[in-house]
Amino acid sequence: MKAIAIYPGTFDPITNGHLDIVERAAKLFDHVIVAIAASARKSPAFTLIQRQEFAAAALARFSNVEICGFDGLLVDIAKQKNANVILRGLRAVSDFEYELQLVGMNRRLAPEIETLFLAPAEQYAFISATIVREIINVGGDVSSFVPKEVVAKLQKLKLSK
Ligand code: ADP
Repeated sequence: MKAIAIYPGTFDPITNGHLDIVERAAKLFDHVIVAIAASARKSPAFTLIQRQEFAAAALARFSNVEICGFDGLLVDIAKQKNANVILRGLRAVSDFEYELQLVGMNRRLAPEIETLFLAPAEQYAFISATIVREIINVGGDVSSFVPKEVVAKLQKLKLSK
């Protein structure tokens, strides 16, 4: 059986923390799917297409990583993609309660899919897409927090120095 992991999130935008998790996962699994949620409810700063483009540019070097957008239930796209693992990143204890709730819900919806957690290297543990968006909003420099390909795309959009 192939080990296929789906790594869901809003990725608004993809950060060095997300990248670190994908890099680890690409070594552990045969195939990794970065599943970018439309997340209309969260009113993302970037469109789903932009978020997919950021991720595609940042992750182009991984031959076993695929990017897809989705709208709807995670377990539905996970089943459609034959994923046997849902992958999530854990930064701090503050992530834990919400993540544990998600595990319970997803397990009830799809008992055959296991949720696994990976922790990023410590220098990435403080990075959050929310704070990155706040820096972008005030025209600041996010080059220490997001992959260089994302910086280049933000510069093109005249959103970063
Ligand atoms: P969500 O909208 O589901 O919170 P995010 O795009 O913010 O999605 O994050 C997707 C996943 O990546 C989540 O499991 C989140 O905990 C994890 N993550 C976010 N930032 C980091 C980081 N700096 N290091 C490791 N994991 C992270």
